Amino acid sequence: MQSWLQNLDLLIKARTPLIWIKSKEEERLFRVLNSACERLNKKRVISWDCVNGIQGSLNDERKFSNNPKGILNWINEQNNSLSTILILKDFHKFYEDPTISRIIKELSFSLKETTHNIIFSSHIFPTSDELDELLNIIELPLPDQMELKKLIKNISVKTDSDLNDNDLNELAMASSGLSELRVRQVAARALTQRGKISRIDLKDIVEEKKQVIARSEILEFFESNSNQNDIGGLSILKNWLNQRYQAFSREAREYGLPLPKGVLLVGPQGTGKSLTAKAIAQSWSMPLLKLDVGRLFSGLVGSSEARTRETITRAEAMAPCILWIDEIDKGFGGDARSDGGTSQRVLASLLTWMAEKNSSVFVIATANAIDKLPPELLRKGRFDEIFFLDLPKSEERLSILDLHLKKRRPNYNFQLSTIVDRTSGYSGAELEQAVIEAMHYSFSERREISERDLIKAVSELVPLSRTAKEQIDLLKQWSSTGRARLAS
Ligand code: ATP
Repeated sequence: MQSWLQNLDLLIKARTPLIWIKSKEEERLFRVLNSACERLNKKRVISWDCVNGIQGSLNDERKFSNNPKGILNWINEQNNSLSTILILKDFHKFYEDPTISRIIKELSFSLKETTHNIIFSSHIFPTSDELDELLNIIELPLPDQMELKKLIKNISVKTDSDLNDNDLNELAMASSGLSELRVRQVAARALTQRGKISRIDLKDIVEEKKQVIARSEILEFFESNSNQNDIGGLSILKNWLNQRYQAFSREAREYGLPLPKGVLLVGPQGTGKSLTAKAIAQSWSMPLLKLDVGRLFSGLVGSSEARTRETITRAEAMAPCILWIDEIDKGFGGDARSDGGTSQRVLASLLTWMAEKNSSVFVIATANAIDKLPPELLRKGRFDEIFFLDLPKSEERLSILDLHLKKRRPNYNFQLSTIVDRTSGYSGAELEQAVIEAMHYSFSERREISERDLIKAVSELVPLSRTAKEQIDLLKQWSSTGRARLAS
């Protein structure tokens, strides 16, 4: 049994009078509580909301609509032999009323002597400081793989959609991160269009997930069209990543390997850090969620931690996925004194999560500078590995130039050795820029690109390694102390 369910059972068994469950899935929560009721030999689950009043009790059906005080007094009067779980929906709208808050306080004592529990069901966490101490809070997690499989299987049986095991697994895997309601909505659309559900619906599921992510202001569902073949050089990093991918399998778990945590890529601008994140998502067929570190910190100080928690929850719900923290140095490089310690606390919760995480969320963090990175982030064990992406060596420049030329002018016909010799200190992005510039020259004369065009483009470009020499030397110095592995 999942740990949150065990926790719920324990709370109910221990006669905890007031339990707050945060969830948007009322129907599912009702089912969950009904199952708990059966497991724990409780007599009944009754629900109440301000429009429909009581539901589930023959004698009192629809009583106390619009009467939150009435329902609180009602549970207090119920006979002990009729052990009851009472679900109160949307009660956060009522507890600011002083009489109601007083009754709740008293119930927190009087119900201890009874076999009844009150479950407050709400889409938010309680916001009342006064009641906080009296409430036991649980967050209903989104459905896990087993529940999703069961749900999709049920729909498929009811609709005569003959799904094989493989399709069922893929659909369930793709649906992770969606609520039951959203999965049902996708299925309903598929049924209207095609009369059954099938693997064709994978596309709609991904679309639905994008919308869920779009509602989070911090995460962006990033479309990636690049794959590993688009990366020139960086062979050690590519091999390492391919090895780590295998460690996501069940076989690897059985072998005793832990789930991969993530990787930190450090290097000058334009050396392929972002490209690697995008390519990995494609090669591993996992959604790429880009975390906007700037937005994490924008707005009111204090709420950044809550946003971090929410972001982590969302990413976990999307697992298996890749969480890309771009320019991590920009977010956590702040001075603790200037932001009231917010960045320290956010970093601490991120690091704790990474240390304890046992979900298939692979973190790829990228940084241009190390002097601003907090040392705790660089400590061994935080990431599986830290890679330094240096400016490309000659054979890498050859492969990068060839890649970008072939992508745009597949029939180009000249040697690259001279250009390779003249581009020492150029980044991958600068080499790409030179190819495009050279194509402008040749295109203006409506002819095929030549070696001369590229030589000219290269000579007119001042690489960052010249303008930002100090910064790059600092990075090289740091990497040479053995604190990061070379990516190539
Ligand atoms: P920044 O630190 O500025 O974000 P970055 O290291 O993330 O830079 P990318 O955004 O990955 O650099 O690189 C920009 C572009 O340069 C890529 O989209 C790609 O077209 C090209 N490029 C960089 N490195 C390589 C490479 N090793 N192979 C092929 N193309 C590359």
